[in-house]
Amino acid sequence: MSTPRVIVIGSGIAGLSAAWRLARAGFSVSVLDKAERPGGRVWSEVKSGFIVDKGPWLLSNHDQHLREALRELEQANEFCELRSAERAQYHRSGVDEIDPYEVRGVMRIPGVRFYDGLRIFRLPRLMRSYAELLDPVQPEQAASLDFRSMSDFVGLYFGVSSLHRWAGPWLGSTSLADEKTASRVLFLLHVAKQLGSTPAVLRSGFAGLIRAITERVETRLGVDVTALNLAPTGEIEVSFWHSEVEERETVDAVVVATGPAQALNLSKAALSYPEEQFLAASRGCAGLCLTLGLDHVFAKNARLIQVPHSENLPIESIWVEPGGGGGRVPAGKTLIRITATRVWAAAHMEAADEVIQKELIAAAGRIDMRFQGERSMSDVSRIPNACPSFEVGRYRELARFYQVQEDQRARGRRLYFAGDYLQGPSIEDAFVSGLRAADRTIADLNPN
Ligand SMILES: Cc1cc2nc3c(=O)[nH]c(=O)nc-3n(C[C@H](O)[C@H](O)[C@H](O)COP(=O)(O)OP(=O)(O)OC[C@H]3O[C@@H](n4cnc5c(N)ncnc54)[C@H](O)[C@@H]3O)c2cc1C
Repeated sequence: MSTPRVIVIGSGIAGLSAAWRLARAGFSVSVLDKAERPGGRVWSEVKSGFIVDKGPWLLSNHDQHLREALRELEQANEFCELRSAERAQYHRSGVDEIDPYEVRGVMRIPGVRFYDGLRIFRLPRLMRSYAELLDPVQPEQAASLDFRSMSDFVGLYFGVSSLHRWAGPWLGSTSLADEKTASRVLFLLHVAKQLGSTPAVLRSGFAGLIRAITERVETRLGVDVTALNLAPTGEIEVSFWHSEVEERETVDAVVVATGPAQALNLSKAALSYPEEQFLAASRGCAGLCLTLGLDHVFAKNARLIQVPHSENLPIESIWVEPGGGGGRVPAGKTLIRITATRVWAAAHMEAADEVIQKELIAAAGRIDMRFQGERSMSDVSRIPNACPSFEVGRYRELARFYQVQEDQRARGRRLYFAGDYLQGPSIEDAFVSGLRAADRTIADLNPN
């Protein structure tokens, strides 16, 4: 039998993880991406000696699949655990170090009422009772818990002050989730993944990881895929534009690792009605970040400052990374990354860089005057669909989507989907969704 031929559409982290697993399983794989650089939302640049992550920047030591991949790609040294990193939270009278990961720590967060804090002691018991359903690799298994919002759930079990001062800022600072509409499953999975974790970054940003995979898998850039046609024999014809020429290629299987809107456009003709509905209902939020390079050091340790929405600032979080500690920031300098709230980001997507800089730096100065210090680098990044939303009901829709996928596979359709919108709002989630799509492809095309 000849080697099965697979096309992966999209060179984001989901597409690359799928392609890499397929290549290692002996398949002939090509990744096609319409962009001129690989990585999708994962993207870093070096600017004035600073590594600027334009999209994601923060990982955790619990990101097992990504860490495993780094080891296999001989990039394990890139993973830099920041054991001394602090988490802090802003409130009107200042910035306090907090510990959102631990029950006693939550009780000490400024603004969490004493009796609400005491109720957090119920969390470990609740987590144990849900444990069987909360599998970060198969989030759809928690569909039966997906009938309540995070705000209803946290408000009911732990009190409103815990929602606004603990759960909301904790989840928002990493996934930009809206506490009012987010499913409680998103929050519970976050707790399951993050409890006891340590933040981490990649020493040279994400460029090395992306390069390591694209060196091992054929990746064709500037290739805009426009349609997929499924032949009755099971093969799939992929139509795309490359250098202003329309081309077609026929393969045994396709993994669509684009965002949901593009996935719908490309594969509409091959989708069942529930799949169309699922993709059409996928939502994401805008992301806007300002990265500053300061010419001095004012903190010993890296620090993530969360900003509760009730403080009415345009900022969701501020990451402070001092140089000189063996990390990736030049000695004597500090990297500051200010992430805007999703609401502010959506309203300022089209604003001029100068306006964004002025407003975010002014707001950051209210948190700590030192953020307004002399800087040698400034960078604005804006991404319209930065993070997928997992609102109430989304995990039930996800479970249905996967069920329909199984039915279609059983009928011989060799079309698979990958992306963070199918898994969770992080690189690790996107990476895992690529592995899951590859595993299905391997099982179908290579049953032995
Ligand atoms: C500002 C920001 C901050 C973030 N912070 C963090 C963080 O700190 N930690 C964390 O873990 N996660 C973070 N994330 C989330 C993380 O970046 C994403 O979850 C992940 O990168 C999504 O990868 P993906 O492969 O699913 O999608 P994408 O990266 O969007 O990849 C999709 C690819 O498909 C291609 N494509 C689309 N249509 C076509 C077509 N027709 N033909 C060919 N190619 C096509 C696109 O060009 C793109 O390359 C952040 C995201 C953003 C934007």
